[in-house]
Amino acid sequence: MAQLLAEKLIRDVPDFPKPGIMFKDIHPVLENAAALQESIDLLCEDAVEKGAEAILGIESRGFVFGAPMALQLELPFVMARKLGKLPFDRISEEYALEYGTATVEMHIDAVSPGQRIYIVDDLLATGGTAKACANMVNRLNGQVCGFGFLVELGFLAGNRKIEEYPIRSLIRYD
Ligand code: AMP
Repeated sequence: MAQLLAEKLIRDVPDFPKPGIMFKDIHPVLENAAALQESIDLLCEDAVEKGAEAILGIESRGFVFGAPMALQLELPFVMARKLGKLPFDRISEEYALEYGTATVEMHIDAVSPGQRIYIVDDLLATGGTAKACANMVNRLNGQVCGFGFLVELGFLAGNRKIEEYPIRSLIRYD
C-alpha cells in the first residue's frame, strides 16, 4: 500500500518529555486536512468492519481522531479522561507508567450494556492506557470491538497488553 500522507508528516522530537524518549509529534498531521481526513477515513473503515456502535476517544489526542470519526459514522462519541476531569458519577482505572502511575476515568453512563465500543488514540506505546480503557468498558458491561491508532510503537509491544482485541494501527515503527 502507498505510504500514508500522515507518515511523511509525523515529526520526531528527541528527548521529549524526558531524555531517551522519541516523541512522535502529530501536530503537522493536524495542519494538513488531506492527511487528517485520510487517517480518519481508514480508522472509520476499520470501526465499521468491527461493528462499532460508539467511538471512545482517549484524552487528549484520542479526542482529535475519535470525535470526527464518530461524526462521520453518526455514532455516539464517549470520552476516557484523565483523573479529576469528569464531573458526573464515574469509574477509574489506575495503571503503571515507566515511573509511577496514572489514572483514567469514564462516566458510568458512557456505555450501555452490550454496546460495541471502538477505542481510539493517536499512539499505542506500552499499552497501559489502552488496557485501562478496555477494563473500564468491560466494567460498564460494554464490549470492546477493536482499537484504532494512528501510530504504533511496535518495539514497546503494547499490542500484547490488549492482545484479546483486534488492533488496527495505520503507521507502525519497529
Ligand atoms: P501507553 O500507555 O504507554 O501506550 O502510552 C500511550 C499514550 O501516551 C498515548 O496517549 C500517546 O499519546 C502517549 N505517548 C506515549 N509515548 C509516546 C511517544 N513516543 N510519542 C508520542 N506520544 C506518546
